[in-house]
Amino acid sequence: MAKFDEAEERLFTAQVCMRCNARNPQRTDSCRKCGYGNLRPKARESRST
Ligand SMILES: [Zn+2]
Repeated sequence: MAKFDEAEERLFTAQVCMRCNARNPQRTDSCRKCGYGNLRPKARESRST
């Protein structure tokens, strides 16, 4: 099950384009689809509080 956890973590640390909502790899500066530079991390950890 450890493998699944890793995969899930990768999913949740991806970034989502604020313009077209495309998912992008974590290490990228701009959306691969539309080139928009404002990406937000798709992470749940920030909502822990
Ligand atoms: Zn985009």
